[in-house]
Amino acid sequence: MNKADSIALMWFRRDLRLTDNATLYQALSGHEKVIPVFIFDEIILSQLPKSDRRLTFIDESLTELADKIAAQGGRLQIYYGNPIKLIPQLALQFSVDVVYAGEDYEPYARERDAQVALVLAEQQRKLQLIKDQVVFAKDEVLSQKGTPLTVFTPYKNAWLKRLRVDDLTTCDTAALSAHWYAADKLSCQRVTLESLGFERQSLVVKPGETGAQLAWQDFQQRMSFYKDKRDFPGVKGVSYLSVHLRFGTISVRQLALAAWMQGGEGANTWLSELIWREFYMQFMYHHPNVAHQAYKAEWREQPWENRADWFAAWCEGRTGYPIVDAAMRQLNQTGFMHNRLRMIVAAFLIKDLDINWQWGEAYFAQQLLDYDLSANNGGWQWASSTGCDAAQPFRIFNPVLQSEKFDAKGKFIKKYVPELSKLDAKSIHAPWKMSLIERQALQFVLGKNYPLPIVDHDVARKKALQKYANIKQMNERDSNLSLKGA
Ligand SMILES: Cc1cc2nc3c(=O)[nH]c(=O)nc-3n(C[C@H](O)[C@H](O)[C@H](O)COP(=O)(O)OP(=O)(O)OC[C@H]3O[C@@H](n4cnc5c(N)ncnc54)[C@H](O)[C@@H]3O)c2cc1C
Repeated sequence: MNKADSIALMWFRRDLRLTDNATLYQALSGHEKVIPVFIFDEIILSQLPKSDRRLTFIDESLTELADKIAAQGGRLQIYYGNPIKLIPQLALQFSVDVVYAGEDYEPYARERDAQVALVLAEQQRKLQLIKDQVVFAKDEVLSQKGTPLTVFTPYKNAWLKRLRVDDLTTCDTAALSAHWYAADKLSCQRVTLESLGFERQSLVVKPGETGAQLAWQDFQQRMSFYKDKRDFPGVKGVSYLSVHLRFGTISVRQLALAAWMQGGEGANTWLSELIWREFYMQFMYHHPNVAHQAYKAEWREQPWENRADWFAAWCEGRTGYPIVDAAMRQLNQTGFMHNRLRMIVAAFLIKDLDINWQWGEAYFAQQLLDYDLSANNGGWQWASSTGCDAAQPFRIFNPVLQSEKFDAKGKFIKKYVPELSKLDAKSIHAPWKMSLIERQALQFVLGKNYPLPIVDHDVARKKALQKYANIKQMNERDSNLSLKGA
């Protein structure tokens, strides 16, 4: 192919930025002209409620991206439809040689990309997938035997051992901006949120590259305190960058490089979290079935109570456990939930309410602005003890002790459960333990001002332990039987 007259399509997906975009860099440096495209996938959109916050985040990030491309003489083409049809149509229309896209490791995306590649190949064209959303993908980090790793610590050690500064090198796309296809030769009407029938939502995070860089600058000054502050939801201890990593409004290489260079306990702990993200992504890549079933076969057939009224109380933040309710209300109101709280509410749903972890996984998938199949599935399978490197089934979080430890003064609880604002630090974690006199003094009526706990944790804990013991016994019996039969 002769670069002088070659045309490429840059298909933006989980990489809504110009800065340090490895895919865009390859497209701009390898071709004379590049047409930038984004497609609102009709299949994905058909499953979302009209109030979905992510659509607002994407739409506003696209506006910024389009403005930046326009300032460089290009024009971002934004379509709605089925990419399997649209991408080859565009490739044909503009005589494109290569379509570039960031590599995606989720089952749906892999299937879609395989089909796009097939149709393009029939036209003698190519789909070029470039690694961009992770530092290491697929088979790049393996065990010494060359097999995929299923436990985090050996994965992390192998990841760090493999890391070279070249893996984190920035791709300078700004220097290549002369390669945009002329804007006046492109005429796609901008598809907007409103034209798709979605309602614009107010967001607690600023979208786009600008929002990402602001959040990053803010966190960079706090990174050395991360280890000490990361577990307290009432404190600004974490980065709040997950949504930016999800939609690629910031480069993971930029973040990992800064953490790696800084070193020290805070930065190293934070780098570990970025590695957890990649651990779950490569795990999903190697085990796509976990998207719809437990990884550990022995935990697949568990009996569940699955009470619809308890599930509704959990979703709506009215379980009577203040830390759980505050967390769920934070999720419903903002689309974000602190990591410690994700662990607490997931454990509560599974082990106290005896509700299938997949119900919780699906609810998070609807509500989270940073929803990511691999991380969410990994988190839920961790909490339900069904996953790869999961919590021990017999280790059951006590929501009151968690609350006392991680929100000691009840600062976070009071923000999202204002009806408890008069309670002191001693009572706020378990209001049902207050004496009648204490409640009367505050004119606080349990069951009226705030719900009574829907379950008794001690009773629920014993029930869960019994269930796990039964499953363990059954599995041992089955494996003995199969050994005898062998
Ligand atoms: C039940 C459950 C569900 C979860 N669902 C998601 C999800 O859908 N999307 C998502 O991005 N994270 C998910 N997480 C992981 C984690 O809670 C969020 O990444 C984190 O709270 C985001 O906040 P932050 O950006 O301030 O994180 P920080 O603490 O600043 O961490 C930095 C980055 O590392 C990554 N990260 C941190 N912890 C994890 C983790 N345990 N697994 C994978 N990546 C991690 C994220 O990209 C995060 O932005 C889930 C965790 C649990 C327990």
